[in-house]
Amino acid sequence: MVQWHKALKGGLHVDCHHHYFGCGAWGNYPHGRFTSTIGPSSRHSHTAPTWLVLHIIMSDTPTNLLAYSDTELVAFMATLGEPAFRARQIARQIYVNLVNDINQMTDLPRVLRERLAAQASIGSLQLQRIISDEAGMTHKALFTLPSGEHIESVLMLYPDRATVCVSTQAGCAMGCTFCATGRLGLLRNLDSHHIVEQVLWARRLLQALRQTHGQSTAAHTPTLEDSTWWGDDGGHPEALPQHLGNVVFMGMGEPFANYDRWWQAVERLHDPQGMNIGARGLTVSTVGLVPGIKRLAEAPLPVNLAISLHAPNDEIRSAMMPVNKRWNVAELLATTRAYIAKTGRRVSFEYVLLQGQNDTPELAHELGLQLRGMLCHVNLIPWNPVPGLPLGRSERQRVTSFQRILQEHGVACTVRVERGVSIAAACGQLAGSPVSGP
Ligand code: SAH
Ligand code: SF4
Repeated sequence: MVQWHKALKGGLHVDCHHHYFGCGAWGNYPHGRFTSTIGPSSRHSHTAPTWLVLHIIMSDTPTNLLAYSDTELVAFMATLGEPAFRARQIARQIYVNLVNDINQMTDLPRVLRERLAAQASIGSLQLQRIISDEAGMTHKALFTLPSGEHIESVLMLYPDRATVCVSTQAGCAMGCTFCATGRLGLLRNLDSHHIVEQVLWARRLLQALRQTHGQSTAAHTPTLEDSTWWGDDGGHPEALPQHLGNVVFMGMGEPFANYDRWWQAVERLHDPQGMNIGARGLTVSTVGLVPGIKRLAEAPLPVNLAISLHAPNDEIRSAMMPVNKRWNVAELLATTRAYIAKTGRRVSFEYVLLQGQNDTPELAHELGLQLRGMLCHVNLIPWNPVPGLPLGRSERQRVTSFQRILQEHGVACTVRVERGVSIAAACGQLAGSPVSGP
């Protein structure tokens, strides 16, 4: 059984499915209405640039501190007449101490805390609900953006590690036939701070779970604010990892269709002074946008790359994934080979198995011939059901035989152990809908 953790404040929005605003039609609106022309400020300047002063005067919504880079935070503090070291204190409180309330920043003078709390916030996502399952080891959060769209994130706990799966867009324009997110169309790109905020949520939740671990659930009344509840049925997690060190960009959306903002988030998550997540703990999954793969090959951080292949030939891939008509299998694999040659890094191919469509022994052989000798690994993912889609999940025996054939070709291959299927939190089940869960 699954427990629902509902936000009662403000009610739940109805999803506006199938609205397409087009990639890039959304600007950077971190603080409301006046920030779309936000520009970088001088790295060493402690005086506030005019744009920032104007923004602060004109904006009637709280300033979202997560929307500021280090330099912008220094400039913002300067508008309050505060020196640069205050900005560093605040950043440390947010990204290292995981404080989610300005009043808890006890190393700031009380007067400053109160002033700051009156005009700034930490983040802009509204947490609507957390659903937990698998004995409290999987937690799916539904957030509402200030602009009204929904996104989802999933925290997965294992005894030795924790991983959060985050969204990079609300909806997705790619239209893969088997995916719940694809059915929404693209609603909007996320800003980098929306992406960072999902990781902060996951770190705070893990911290709260660890603090509560061992206490009696009866003694603890769950609230949305502390997010420490994992459901009566879930019980206490057996063992909780110390630290969240893995982020997979495999939630809603196509990261490479929002490359710049996604990369900004990567840099902020990696920042050794901040969240300090190692590049090898970051994994991006792409539908196969060739220009994005080329950009990543040149990028300065060795982020892991996963590519959604799902078929070894154009006929089947195009039927499943419209993107294949733009960048076909040959071009995608040639780009992947070039990526491997350039970076020396192993690539993962994801392969969703749909009964009778792409899971036959012949296709396994064809795939094996395509991939043999490449520095890669194949992740087989038995399709996770999406309500309303007339597709079938491959039976276990077909999955194992597909895996065996690939291995006979010398291709490393594992079957992904899915998390969160029963709470619609598994791969491809995220639809950001208040009614999408069971
Ligand atoms: N847009 C990116 C990342 C998000 S989707 C991409 O497509 O790669 C993350 C993974 O889930 C992809 O491999 C995607 O093909 C897969 N997926 C989508 N729908 C699925 C479903 N219903 N069952 C299993 N995997 C699915
Ligand atoms: Fe978008 Fe990825 Fe879903 Fe395809 S599988 S529709 S690219 S989220």
